[in-house]
Amino acid sequence: MKHLQRTILVSLLILTLQNGYGQDFSKNLIHLPNIIKKYKKQTAKIKKQKDSLSNIHFANNWDTIHFNPYRNTKISFPFEINFLDKTYASPIPRKHVVTSRYGWRRGRAHRAIDIDLITGDDVYSVLDGKVRYVGYHPGHGKTIVVRHYNGLETVYAHLSKYDVKVNTIVKKGELIGKGGNTGRSRGSHLHLEMRYKGIDINPEHIFNFKGKTTIRSKNIWVTEDWATPYYHISTRQSNLVTLDTFEKVTAYKKRKRKIYIVKSGDTLSGIAYKNHVPIRRICKTNKIRRTSTLKIGQRLIL
Ligand SMILES: [Zn+2]
Repeated sequence: MKHLQRTILVSLLILTLQNGYGQDFSKNLIHLPNIIKKYKKQTAKIKKQKDSLSNIHFANNWDTIHFNPYRNTKISFPFEINFLDKTYASPIPRKHVVTSRYGWRRGRAHRAIDIDLITGDDVYSVLDGKVRYVGYHPGHGKTIVVRHYNGLETVYAHLSKYDVKVNTIVKKGELIGKGGNTGRSRGSHLHLEMRYKGIDINPEHIFNFKGKTTIRSKNIWVTEDWATPYYHISTRQSNLVTLDTFEKVTAYKKRKRKIYIVKSGDTLSGIAYKNHVPIRRICKTNKIRRTSTLKIGQRLIL
């Protein structure tokens, strides 16, 4: 696009200069409609590319029956999610009061951010997209899943009412349902989950929930720890980092690893829980099995 604008500007400059030097102006003028035609063609091509790009996410694994249609999809870390702009629409018509975060909670994984609301409050889609799933899920209660143009899915759970049907195209900020307390829920709130190809991501790694409704970056890289509740605690905000380039991801991954010395009475699951590191990660890094016996004084890389 920029290149084309430059071409037009340069062409106009040549036209002016040539005319100034007493050359045939009308001869050069013939090129101008061609340039405009080329510009229009280019714009149409870009629009088509954008549409086809969006279609990839809507064509593959489009399943309106199952909550997670990506069970057989393997995704490797890190991966990148792109956004067209840096704002999202608030999912509720009130100030965000976060009651619980993505992370470890009462001995189990909490894979979303909980935002306080009153039953009956409007719930809006945070981004443009298409409604993929509307249904009752055992834990989530009444649930709506919207898939966005970049493949990201947002899950709105514990709702009291649905205002959309599957396959509906929704705009950023459009009403999709009403908040509630259905499913495994303690009091009315919105359980907002963010998933990419079946992987749940800490929503705070992507969105800013304090004050402004901004997206941390147009390009967000997701590393395994931002998609593993074990690394986070639901009662505390994790140290947020903006991973917007691959270089930053590489530097982030090289951060200092902690060494843990096994004490009497330690178990692998206990160490994993206390240090917010997944068991599978400890096993892989230290080349041990889940069933391996730990020795007192043994060093483990966390
Ligand atoms: Zn929740």
